[in-house]
Amino acid sequence: MTTAQVGVVGLAVMGGNLSRNLARQGLTVAVYDRVQGLGRDLASGHEGVGGIVDCANPESLIAALARPRAVILLVPAGRATDAVIRDLAPLMEAGDTIIDAGNARFEDTENREKALAAMGIRFIGAGVSGGEEGALHGPSIMAGGGQGAWDAVRPMLEGISARVDGEPCCALVGPGGAGHFVKTVHNGIEYAVLQLIAEAYHLLREGLGETAPRIGEAFADWNASGLDSYLLEVSAEALRHEDARTGRPLVDVILDEAGNKGTGVWAAQAALGLGVPATGVAEAAFARALSARREQRESIRAALGSPEPDSPGEGFQEDVRQALEFATRVAYAQGFDLIHAGSDEHGWGLDCASIARVWRGGCIIRARLLDAIVEANIHDPGTPSLLTDPPYMAPVIAGEAAWRRVVSWAVLSGIPVPVFSSLLSYVDALRTERLPAALIQAQRDFFGAHTYRRIDVDGAFHTLWSSDRSEKEV
Ligand code: NDP
Repeated sequence: MTTAQVGVVGLAVMGGNLSRNLARQGLTVAVYDRVQGLGRDLASGHEGVGGIVDCANPESLIAALARPRAVILLVPAGRATDAVIRDLAPLMEAGDTIIDAGNARFEDTENREKALAAMGIRFIGAGVSGGEEGALHGPSIMAGGGQGAWDAVRPMLEGISARVDGEPCCALVGPGGAGHFVKTVHNGIEYAVLQLIAEAYHLLREGLGETAPRIGEAFADWNASGLDSYLLEVSAEALRHEDARTGRPLVDVILDEAGNKGTGVWAAQAALGLGVPATGVAEAAFARALSARREQRESIRAALGSPEPDSPGEGFQEDVRQALEFATRVAYAQGFDLIHAGSDEHGWGLDCASIARVWRGGCIIRARLLDAIVEANIHDPGTPSLLTDPPYMAPVIAGEAAWRRVVSWAVLSGIPVPVFSSLLSYVDALRTERLPAALIQAQRDFFGAHTYRRIDVDGAFHTLWSSDRSEKEV
């Protein structure tokens, strides 16, 4: 029987292409999927060393592997991952490693690591970014787990990852669920940036009456400037693509209901749980949910009508470009705030510069601005946010007025810009000297005796609202 160096379970787009990538590195890869035929199709043409061996079931996959064994999972998050681990773990032995390279809630990853450790099996929770193409040609890999498990699989994972300036875009970012947490934040940033680009498209379409292909041309030009990012590049290509059936721009015949696989919601939940105002992520997740409520949208449009857009002023397209560039930087800054908070909460010791380095290649959110994040000193307690890092902000700071003009025009014209407007409010709130939170505290104290602190005296206070309204220290 062939002795394979690594096993892969789950052979849809990610598992199939990652198996090909592993085989290209000269490894023999044993593969299994419960869908009959996926492994056979993958294996044909890949026999021998550096080949792909189709296995009919988990038992034959494990039997095909050299010891200590390493098995990579690329199956749906949640119950499917648990089911695959339940099938594999009893067949494995102490010193073997399972790498969950799918998306996962980081809490699940920590529970799985503990359960497998009791059997002596090592577990790595690795966030993998890059989609279909990345999996084949070199993804970005954010791993979490113990050092011993990492040392055992590091050469293999570095071998298949993308490289920038010769450095692998692959790292052990921290212990336990840290890798999957970082991947969750990555997906949150992805949600926010995709929504910003979509809002920019909508603004140009409604404001200037531009066609999809012409907006695609504009995005391609912007992509050659400081906005250089993979997500803008794919947006430009998608907007310029013609539908073969109708000859119309493809985007004009796609139903306007955005889907999701839940990772943006996980990111928003993590932000809420940690008390991090990652508003761009949450608004982007809500925007997808809203788009999918077709019947409600139609009935509300019929009931309320919609305002007629004004025509925007001179230079609107350049204003939208500058707004997009500024807002995108704020969206990444919120993501890194979330990483900091997760790291502090769980004691992971995450290093933002090394995470930014891993995201520079192969990754869906790769963008030129990551170079500035690699250089930014965001561990310095005096520099608690990327928004206070002058080199990070310098290229966009002059675009603030443009961003305000764009949001103002959109609000007056009834064009929804949830992420453009919430990110602007976020920046404004952060630099407001006195927020109306003082009134929130008074309200809470009024109805719930929740107490408040004063600006002039230390301690917690309560006003006796329902009696003589005197104040007492509590
Ligand atoms: P899917 O998650 O859609 O499917 C993975 C494959 O695993 C399917 O063939 C599925 O079969 C199979 N499978 C499910 N349960 C089992 C089981 N118990 N035993 C064996 N095989 C099983 O595929 P993707 O390639 O899109 O994603 C894989 C993982 O990577 C997911 O966790 C996803 O979130 C993550 N990911 C995906 C990206 C993408 O761009 N697609 C990008 C980054 C990460 P069946 O169809 O019968 O369920």
